[in-house]
Amino acid sequence: MASAAVLWFGETMSAVPLRNSKAAASAVRAVTVLGATGSIGDSTMDLLRSSPDRYQIEALTANTNVEALAKLAIEFDARFAAIADPNRLEDLKDALAGTATECGAGESAIIEAAARPADWVMAAVSGAAGLKPALAAVDRGATVALANKECLVCAGDFFMQRAAKAGACILPADSEHNALFQALGSGSREELVRVIITASGGPFRTWAVADIEQATLAQALKHPNWSMGQKITIDSASMMNKGLEVIEASYLFALAPDEIDVLVHPQSIIHGMVEFSDRSVVAQLGAPDMRTPIAHCLGWPDRIVGPAAKLDLAKIGQLTFEEPDLDRFPALRLAYDALRTGHGATTVYNAANEVAVAAFIAGRIRFGAIARLVESTMNAWIREGNRAPLTSADDAIAVDHNARNKAVTLLPQIALKAS
Ligand code: NDP
Repeated sequence: MASAAVLWFGETMSAVPLRNSKAAASAVRAVTVLGATGSIGDSTMDLLRSSPDRYQIEALTANTNVEALAKLAIEFDARFAAIADPNRLEDLKDALAGTATECGAGESAIIEAAARPADWVMAAVSGAAGLKPALAAVDRGATVALANKECLVCAGDFFMQRAAKAGACILPADSEHNALFQALGSGSREELVRVIITASGGPFRTWAVADIEQATLAQALKHPNWSMGQKITIDSASMMNKGLEVIEASYLFALAPDEIDVLVHPQSIIHGMVEFSDRSVVAQLGAPDMRTPIAHCLGWPDRIVGPAAKLDLAKIGQLTFEEPDLDRFPALRLAYDALRTGHGATTVYNAANEVAVAAFIAGRIRFGAIARLVESTMNAWIREGNRAPLTSADDAIAVDHNARNKAVTLLPQIALKAS
């Protein structure tokens, strides 16, 4: 089990460890994967599959996909499998009949999966639904590889404080944050000038505003470099994902908004950089393959063998960079606004975006309206004077819930309004 770590990032950051602050992992590790049937889950299971003697699977979870969950539970001889959809419990029981795997359904079962005694937990549920399960793992002091950025965006201060209090280790699994985590060890907090998160720019990087406005779902789902789940792929196209990552970096590493820059880098080879006071910039590079940051989290504090392609810079030839265009991609500007506003504004940003993306997928709004709905929801929330510090998961969930309701109310007028 991970021990509490001492950090240079400051008190709120004591949940993200220094490399040498933890004893080496034991030979066989008990592992839980929350969101095992998703894109991150798939990459994680792929890594676990390559060293079956090293890992014992404690629990696996999914939302509705019983078939894929049961298949994984049987393959990995999982002790527990949980499906969020309560209506699928009988199907899960049938699929696991004759195996030793226990099972459960509903939100409480997902939380139970997280609370079971695994040394290492991958938190890869998508959306704000991942918050309570991730907290259940954090509260028992587990090592948590955090892919679910919405946990931090919804309840960042509170989440990190609770992790520090419980002695949990939070390992950033998101590629940019994992890159920063690897680079930050090169200097002290006092020596840090800024971090730089790279962005591919997504499929609409070179598109005119009018074309972005009308982009179709199929176009939004064509990410140039990364293969990911549907929601995050759409967020990448709007650059909302980069906005969520700016907020995520702020909470993870206790950084002010002005200490976080975004740089468009279409090749997605450099994932993150840290600039120090002597003007050294330390970067982490790798092929765009999520199995690399996940392998870093799985092996930490050591390094394990990763399956991603070897980086061949000579073949790639050129690495290019551009400033992000905040006029064509207002979602990124809104993330900085939310971070500066604080007191739940980032929760509202995320909630409104989840409503907007679902509406876009359902064909109810244009692509360009996603950022407009987020902005209108944030403005309405500020106007109504709802700002207050979030001190519990229930506070964050209440703000999330109210923001979703507000966004749903605003949806029809946003849908009618052209840019
Ligand atoms: P996917 O949509 O591919 O998978 C999501 C997983 O969560 C699935 O197992 C899904 O189950 C489960 N799930 C969805 N909703 C719920 C719910 N309400 N309750 C319980 N389980 C649920 O997402 P990704 O793997 O792409 O992303 C997961 C998280 O990781 C997101 O927060 C994303 O931002 C982050 N991330 C993803 C990256 C990527 O490359 N994909 C990169 C960096 C971060 P089911 O299969 O049954 O629907």
